Amino acid sequence: MTRGIVYAEPGATLTLEEIVVDPPGPREVQVRVHACGLCHSDLHVVETGGWGMRFPILLGHEGAGIVEEVGAEVTGVAPGDRVVVAWRAPCGECPQCRRGDPRRCSSQLRAKRRLHRAADDALLTPVLRCGSFAERVVVHEACAVPIPEELPFEQACLLACGFSTGAGAALWATPVREGSTVAVIGCGGVGLAVVQGARLAGAERIVAVDVAPEKLAVAEELGATDAVDGTAGDAVDQVRELTGGVGVDFAFSAIGAPVGLDQAVRMCAYAGTATLVGIPLPDSRLGVDLDSEIFGPKVAIAVTHGGDTIPQQDFPFLAQAALDGKLDLARFVSSTCSLEDVPERLPRIGRDGEIRAVAVF
Ligand SMILES: [Zn+2]
Ligand SMILES: [Zn+2]
Repeated sequence: MTRGIVYAEPGATLTLEEIVVDPPGPREVQVRVHACGLCHSDLHVVETGGWGMRFPILLGHEGAGIVEEVGAEVTGVAPGDRVVVAWRAPCGECPQCRRGDPRRCSSQLRAKRRLHRAADDALLTPVLRCGSFAERVVVHEACAVPIPEELPFEQACLLACGFSTGAGAALWATPVREGSTVAVIGCGGVGLAVVQGARLAGAERIVAVDVAPEKLAVAEELGATDAVDGTAGDAVDQVRELTGGVGVDFAFSAIGAPVGLDQAVRMCAYAGTATLVGIPLPDSRLGVDLDSEIFGPKVAIAVTHGGDTIPQQDFPFLAQAALDGKLDLARFVSSTCSLEDVPERLPRIGRDGEIRAVAVF
């Protein structure tokens, strides 16, 4: 029997339920999940009453494990392979893919829904096509990304979302140029991964911005050259002062609150880029002046979903960089828990002082 964390209806508390897993279909693989990170997007699903998904919902989207069974026509992986379960897999056929821009694919490859709640046979909707807070999942083979043997599952799983979102924002979505200056607003797990990505990209200066001194300390440990405490005065003024009044080439908002992107725009140097990484809540509005703060200084605003990664090429790259000591993935796993702990731990994300809590099954 397989168990998983189910969000049954709007307002319901999360429960660990027994799940029936149908065999994988053509181009689908079944993965025995060994670890899954607690990502804010799962909390977002709960806080927004389902994020537009059909109930009941199977939570989790930051998993890694071992391929257990493959369906027909699967060529990329075989039973026994260690994989990260990606929630993105460019389709190759949408307008963005056809024009040669798979990082902005608008139609991800997906498996059919194969998991049912055992109690009533209801078909579960897996979060972001993954549902990896379950002991087994069925995903499209393009979403099962092989990883090196040496990388432990509790680190590897962070490549599925949080780490790749941050690092990918700086490496691929809005690529940080070597020698450039960068600001990162919000130093939770995703923001810290932006710091790591910017460092790997060769940024000369990386300014970490947060209101929590302990998060700023970790950011400096992970590659930030400067720290700005948002409680000690206007963050934009502080960043401008640190950069001799110029501002930064790249500013990333790794928080969902609109003030993050607002500040990112206003921190930018002439022709800088402000990138929205964090997921905003509905009805958020930007408060910047179009003339003096965007058009005049020629600031570009970009959005990334999950770092705009191409998992089959980027995850192995990030995994190898971690094994080579160029990225400190291990530092991101701040605690581990069990699958049973997830309903109680998930609502505390962002308030628990964790960089990333990882459920290990
Ligand atoms: Zn596509
Ligand atoms: Zn996530």
